[in-house]
Amino acid sequence: MSIITAVETFDVRFPTSKHLDGSDAMNADPDYSAAYLRIITDAADGHEGHGFVFTIGRGNDVETAAINALKGHVIGRNTEELLDDMGATWRLFVHDSQLRWLGPEKGVMHMAIGAVVNALWDLKAKRAGLPLWQLLGRMTPEELVNLIDFRYLTDALTPEEALEIFRKAEPGRRQREEELLTVGYPAYTTTPGWLGYSDEKLARLCREAVKDGFQQIKLKVGGDLEDDRRRLKIARETVGPDIRIAVDANQRWDVAEAISWMKELAEFDVAWIEEPTSPDDVLGHAAISRGVAPIPVATGEHVQNRVIFKQMLQADALQVLQIDAARVAGVNENIAILLLAAKFNVPVCPHAGGVGLCEAVQHLSMFDFVAVSGTLERRMIEFVDHLHEHFITPIDVRQGRYWPPLAQGAGAEMHLASLQEFSYPGGPAWMPETVAIAG
Ligand SMILES: [Mg+2]
Repeated sequence: MSIITAVETFDVRFPTSKHLDGSDAMNADPDYSAAYLRIITDAADGHEGHGFVFTIGRGNDVETAAINALKGHVIGRNTEELLDDMGATWRLFVHDSQLRWLGPEKGVMHMAIGAVVNALWDLKAKRAGLPLWQLLGRMTPEELVNLIDFRYLTDALTPEEALEIFRKAEPGRRQREEELLTVGYPAYTTTPGWLGYSDEKLARLCREAVKDGFQQIKLKVGGDLEDDRRRLKIARETVGPDIRIAVDANQRWDVAEAISWMKELAEFDVAWIEEPTSPDDVLGHAAISRGVAPIPVATGEHVQNRVIFKQMLQADALQVLQIDAARVAGVNENIAILLLAAKFNVPVCPHAGGVGLCEAVQHLSMFDFVAVSGTLERRMIEFVDHLHEHFITPIDVRQGRYWPPLAQGAGAEMHLASLQEFSYPGGPAWMPETVAIAG
């Protein structure tokens, strides 16, 4: 038996806004950041659980405070008791009646719960000596169903249906694990497409993406229609007709504007339109889906919980579902969302990038392939080539594919030196002279 003795939090920020990496129509100057935690126990194995919430700078301190508000549920607790029943542990946080008032089940507090839940999964996977995707992919269908809170879901997905989905995928699990290790998981890249990049940089990065084996790239749109048409023309001419080009408006438009704007971009053969409007607007997304068909609508990186995803699917408001490892309440809720997507036969193409999101979310897609949907068809994980060097187990993306992580854990652990150097506001990277010289 062991006890959780400490939960340490870190406000870590990377000054990415200096180079306009990550710039889009709504987020002009992001500093990729992590409200980060590490869970420490008194067990002799020395394993720690690491997790984070991704933010884009200001507000990272608020998110760190939200994680601190959950410490009382963790410190002093029996580690095995928490890890052995992760379904009950999830409910312990999400059903905290006082903290629940702040959502319910959305926003700052819900994201903080996600970080703590994911850190516990990291610890559980390390103790099992497995990467998270394999740990999950080897649990029984019954154990997996027990992870999920079906409250608010049963009009779309019952526990019995979830069990059936897991059982149907069970016979092929081993074979698909092998397949992943042999062929990897498809990726697409957003690296060429940030709004702040020059036309020359866009063309160069498009050429490099094709050379690197990506079958799909993504461009940010929604700032200015003529700019979008010019940039899409450059991208299409550079990559040729066979590479898919998705576009992402980052919530910029109203419903009618989304439909009319996309009519102007349709000639460039768009693979999907991502986040055309508010992530809360289920009926708006449904109207846009009808208005821009056959172009699929993709969304999810800001969808706050499984309930909104359920409605999006029920209303045929999205045709590509984009989970995010650090938006909802962690691994458990993302498994519920993967099940919903499987039930409605909608492909899952996770949102990633930022800092650590690629490292974390690849485990969920790989688990989905092994134990939920059982297919790679129409599925791919976003790839952005930023900040991977700060992670103990950085992603391995080659030939346009993610290669499965084999190290134990959930992928979120950063090097201690990075946590210290980019600590905000006191870390060396944020000292006035460093910022001035680098700028
Ligand atoms: Mg996006």
